[in-house]
Amino acid sequence: MIKIEHLVKNYGSNCAVDDISFEVEEGEIVGFLGPNGAGKSTTMNILTGYLSSTSGKASIAGIDILTDPIGAKKLIGYLPEQPPLYLDMTVEEYLNFIYNLKGCRIDTLGESREAHLEKICDTVKIKDVYHRVIRALSKGYRQRVGIAQALIGNPKVIIFDEPTVGLDPKQIIEIRNLIRGLGKAHTVILSTHILQEVQAVCDRIVIINKGKIVANEKTENISAVVGRSRRFNLKICGPKKDVLALLKGMAGISYVEELAGSDGEAFNYMIESEPGVDIRKKLFFALADAKFALVGMEALGMSLEDIFISVVDQSEVKTVRAAAPRQRRPKGKERFALEHELGSSLLENAQKQRAEAALQETEDDD
Ligand code: ADP
Repeated sequence: MIKIEHLVKNYGSNCAVDDISFEVEEGEIVGFLGPNGAGKSTTMNILTGYLSSTSGKASIAGIDILTDPIGAKKLIGYLPEQPPLYLDMTVEEYLNFIYNLKGCRIDTLGESREAHLEKICDTVKIKDVYHRVIRALSKGYRQRVGIAQALIGNPKVIIFDEPTVGLDPKQIIEIRNLIRGLGKAHTVILSTHILQEVQAVCDRIVIINKGKIVANEKTENISAVVGRSRRFNLKICGPKKDVLALLKGMAGISYVEELAGSDGEAFNYMIESEPGVDIRKKLFFALADAKFALVGMEALGMSLEDIFISVVDQSEVKTVRAAAPRQRRPKGKERFALEHELGSSLLENAQKQRAEAALQETEDDD
């Protein structure tokens, strides 16, 4: 349904999109994931005909967006990061305006204007604010109106650019459920920098970093990109100092950390094995030989954060290797610090968004 082939976009000497190719099948929901500045918006803007490419091809259902932009745009509903709303219009006025702008007709839609708009308002749950001025709506409702305008004309493809930015956690869940539901009747591309978003919503994940695609996998297979978990939480009985010495001295273990707390006679540790090493059996027998009872072993599943850091790291290592051959991936404590930082920034973001939403609701009530 969507095909991007060797797409390149240069802004002067800055290459924002660097020879990317990927396809989206009909009915798929694909997450386009990457850090800020990775090239997501540039790609979305080329795909929706807002921006020309330096070279390469983008097509929707076989129609080339560059050679037949109007034909291709008829197949696309687009929600940019900032929803294109006229705040002084009521929802009713705005949706009718978009209906006219898109040149919708009863004979092509197969239903009347009223029936079409009512169905969309039902889907995005904005019937109760249909006669209200958009300026008076909360951010969550405005986003729904933005989604409604994208759905007008029944486009085959819907493209969302960062659809949950600035929403509070409850609104985020509602919008994600809504997008998930749209996947039944539409092909959807969702651009985001939020890892949980793609995990919650998408069938497939395409990860972009510095203009290049670093992963393109089904959501459930994405961990295969970087191999299985190599981290374990352990509960081991025995003097801490001796247990730590044994773990640190063991071939195949690349990182050891003592964790807080204890469980009866056992203390807690976290280890990470070298890539490709299954350390479990060897560890069990080594501890048994030393008479340290292993009373707990829990594999730490790979979160999307791990995967993201890992694939982005790998691509960075590949691109910088020529210039700096000894560049290395962050390991152990350094890497966990990075993940922790990422977790904290997500939390901070959520808190900020909640505060903004509360403020917005107060304003709306006034
Ligand atoms: P993302 O959406 O992933 O945050 P963008 O596509 O907005 O990334 O940006 C990719 C790169 O292109 C960034 O380095 C950004 O600074 C640059 N860029 C984006 N738009 C412009 C522009 N209009 N002029 C020059 N550089 C731009």
